Amino acid sequence: MDKPIQALVLNRIRYGETSLILKLFTEKYGLISGMMKGALNAKKWAPESGMIIQTLPIRRREEGMFTLSATEYEYQYSFSNSLIKSAVRDTALELSLAVLHEENPHAELYELFGKFLHHLESCSESSALFSLWLFILRFGDALGVSVERSGCVICGEPFRDGGELLPEQGGFACGSCRPKKSPLFSAEIISLLTHGKPSPDDLIPRLTPRERYGVTLLLTENLRSHFSFHRDIHSLEFLKEIV
Ligand SMILES: [Zn+2]
Repeated sequence: MDKPIQALVLNRIRYGETSLILKLFTEKYGLISGMMKGALNAKKWAPESGMIIQTLPIRRREEGMFTLSATEYEYQYSFSNSLIKSAVRDTALELSLAVLHEENPHAELYELFGKFLHHLESCSESSALFSLWLFILRFGDALGVSVERSGCVICGEPFRDGGELLPEQGGFACGSCRPKKSPLFSAEIISLLTHGKPSPDDLIPRLTPRERYGVTLLLTENLRSHFSFHRDIHSLEFLKEIV
């Protein structure tokens, strides 16, 4: 008999009166779908996005949806009613679902989800957005589409006047190499993404809402161009309203 495994709930869809279909990220299988029958019958709890559960996924065939049994609550990250932290979490989970499609164990990614949610739980509100930026970059790193941030991808020079993110080149071009377009990432933002300096608590409050959302959107679009997903990331719309 197999033992229950730990899983992060990426999203849940109601099925019939009382059942849920869960998209889970697990260390053992990577992304899986599972049916939890009668999930909404229990008065005490039901799985929600962002929750850590223990469950025993079983299926008769090699592929397809699992049936989840012996499902138990393990942990719910608490953001103390922070709208920005909830929006950051939802954006990260939605983005992950847009990019990931198949079962494929990925220990590094599993660890990244845990670190990201754990950090988000304890960080300041201004660092919350930065944690999303780092999550998107490290998610890309783990899936082999890193963004080169140490120097201009064309001339190799540091970013004195900031840089423009070029998905097809896998990094930023400096202001001189892209003289006709205004660089959208300031040198300080690139330094924050590369070295974590200046600190997010110092820099992010100094950015305009437009800049904060702009960086988030460009990093997201960079992933989109590599993984060619078409769906809208709805949580981004909400994030845009509150950054
Ligand atoms: Zn350059």
